[in-house]
Amino acid sequence: MSAPILSSLAPIPHSTDGIYEELKHVQRTFGYLPTMELERVAGKLKLHKRDIHAIASYYPHFRLQPPARVEVKVCDDMTCHLRRSRELQKDLQQQFQGVSKENLIIGNVSCLGRCDQAPVVAIGEGYYDKASSEQIIPVVKEALAAQTFDDEKGSPSPQILEKPTRKLEIDPYVGHSPYAFLKTFAKNFAEDSQRKGDELLHELETAGLRGLGGAGFPTFRKWSRVRGWPPGEKYFVCNADESEPGTIKDRFILTHLPHLVIEGMILGGLCVGAKQGYLYIRHEYKDQIAILQAELKRCQRERLIGQNILDTGLTFHLELFVSPGGYICGEESALLEAIEGNRAEPRNRCPIPIPPLLVDEGLWRKPTVVNNVETLAFAAAIAARGAAWLHTYGENGAKGLKFIGISGDVRQPGIYEVPMGIKFKDLIYGEQYGRGIRDNRELLAFAPSGPSSGYLPASMADLPMDWKPLQDAGSMLGSSAIVVCSDRACMLDMALNAVRFYRNESCGKCVPCRIGSQQMVQILERWTRGECQDDDRKLVNELSHAMKFGSLCGLGQILPAPIQSVLHHFSKEVDDHLLDRKCRAEICFREGRR
Ligand code: SF4
Repeated sequence: MSAPILSSLAPIPHSTDGIYEELKHVQRTFGYLPTMELERVAGKLKLHKRDIHAIASYYPHFRLQPPARVEVKVCDDMTCHLRRSRELQKDLQQQFQGVSKENLIIGNVSCLGRCDQAPVVAIGEGYYDKASSEQIIPVVKEALAAQTFDDEKGSPSPQILEKPTRKLEIDPYVGHSPYAFLKTFAKNFAEDSQRKGDELLHELETAGLRGLGGAGFPTFRKWSRVRGWPPGEKYFVCNADESEPGTIKDRFILTHLPHLVIEGMILGGLCVGAKQGYLYIRHEYKDQIAILQAELKRCQRERLIGQNILDTGLTFHLELFVSPGGYICGEESALLEAIEGNRAEPRNRCPIPIPPLLVDEGLWRKPTVVNNVETLAFAAAIAARGAAWLHTYGENGAKGLKFIGISGDVRQPGIYEVPMGIKFKDLIYGEQYGRGIRDNRELLAFAPSGPSSGYLPASMADLPMDWKPLQDAGSMLGSSAIVVCSDRACMLDMALNAVRFYRNESCGKCVPCRIGSQQMVQILERWTRGECQDDDRKLVNELSHAMKFGSLCGLGQILPAPIQSVLHHFSKEVDDHLLDRKCRAEICFREGRR
């Protein structure tokens, strides 16, 4: 492959996390970011005040105003919504209605990545799983009464408590020291990088490894393209910023298989010729951050990263980069902008993928691979055991393994390693997986992968979990964030919930998404109140079309999927709302409904 031509518009690199570290320090000291302090930081970093303000006002982690003494934030996204988080929030608001805003704020927070423990409440920096009024009210009372309150308290990470019930097939190092393959590979690669690199890429291609964060792009192609560039500044990035409601599998992998993710990154970095890697992780994953820090220290001790790896002369530096927050940071160009110290707005990209691609002009406009956590863990496993190993798994014509998260109205929510091609009904009802629908209810619908996949009806639970069958069904494999809805759910309400999530997370950079997402929410809110205008359905379809084809990034493009899938599969349920003001689940038309 001929090397792509590097853009001459490359900006000058600057410090990656200096801005965020300064702002975090100020916020830790003052509880928020006072204007005077922003000006001081701007002077220190030799930046214009407006540049600091642009960052401070963009990321949800930062506050420009003093916070209330106690902040209670209830997640109401998808799975938490199914598990009655809205009722919980109302209950808490009622309980503390006399308390001033300076002392207590009760509001919402975006999906915290603990969908298997829904509903989840954040109090300060502490997260409370399977939250109930009985559990939360005493904590809030204690916090209000206390002079100082440990706001990092909360439930421990569920993944720390709940070990995998079975041996994980992906891990070649069960009972052995990890990184054995890397140690051999590095020595051989130093002697013959062309041949060893070609062999590794060949295994990835034969295995058919695709991006498992949702996009499904063939991994070997990304690696090959960056490798095809002449030696020089290149980067290798792991996207561990999973934030889509229902998506919890990467948290599990980072907890139990950090060595595989890091090994995948080092192998990838060496193979493509990158000397610097960043593992970008969402800030809510505090336990996983600690696990990764310990794992990176071990790699430093064993000289698996840094300069002169195992005396081979090879170099690969690897840093953990903790996200300053925001769902949009999971979009890979936005993620790169965040690492560069900018607002995490997706870059303008041509809808037709012609060079230069993001892999050509990635971090600081240099060739860059961005891979998801699960993709990298599988890359390491395939490298160690070969493509043929992966092909020994699979069902219904599919090949391979996959990590899934299953949450919502199932008896046993959790994260599981499953064969590709397994049927959704087996995941929902299987004894080792979801164990059926809670409270002896019936299955109504399921989202194969969070809000972006839309909802499929119970009659389609016979579908195999595989790329093509799901695409043919108008859905997608995505990140395998399976969210299950029992017949207690209202599908119009669930569509509104998903669209509202995207509206809240829209970065606002492009008009179709910024305006369209708000319009879509307003229309669906009207529908759940039984207020329909004659041309509303036509308007929703036109809006969906405009957003799908006019939005700059995947968020706006995918935003119509939940309502379009409900219009397609649950048309009668929508008509009941619009024509008869009837909600089968008795969720809509309630007084005080938002
Ligand atoms: Fe931002 Fe939405 Fe446009 Fe994406 S589609 S760039 S999230 S406004």
